Amino acid sequence: MRWFRPDEYRCRCGRSTCEAPMELAGVMQSRLDALREVYGQPIVLTSGLRCSTWNTHVGGVKNSAHLSGEAVDIACGEGMTRRVLVQLAMAAADKDGTWWFPLVEVSKSHIHIETVPRPNPLLVLE
Ligand SMILES: [Zn+2]
Ligand SMILES: [Zn+2]
Repeated sequence: MRWFRPDEYRCRCGRSTCEAPMELAGVMQSRLDALREVYGQPIVLTSGLRCSTWNTHVGGVKNSAHLSGEAVDIACGEGMTRRVLVQLAMAAADKDGTWWFPLVEVSKSHIHIETVPRPNPLLVLE
């Protein structure tokens, strides 16, 4: 990836037996880089890839898209950072109308964005 180092998105369980993928899904790689490009400022990931052990540890949902590298969590508190990031993530789409992040979930400390296709794009407020 252009803007993200492996230690920023790889599983953080620290186990030698970690079975999480080493790289984010290809679509997430290109879209996350492009989001970083339009945002124009550093993006801090609080969670990227997860193995099932780490996913359970951090309280992720059972079939979390973090397991396949199709979801990341971006750090942002309240205020402009979050407002701008949510705005950009929700608006990002290909010319053919394909949403880059069909699911955007906003919490107090981060936003969760997913590239998994959905029939209807969704905004979830925690
Ligand atoms: Zn792991
Ligand atoms: Zn997440």
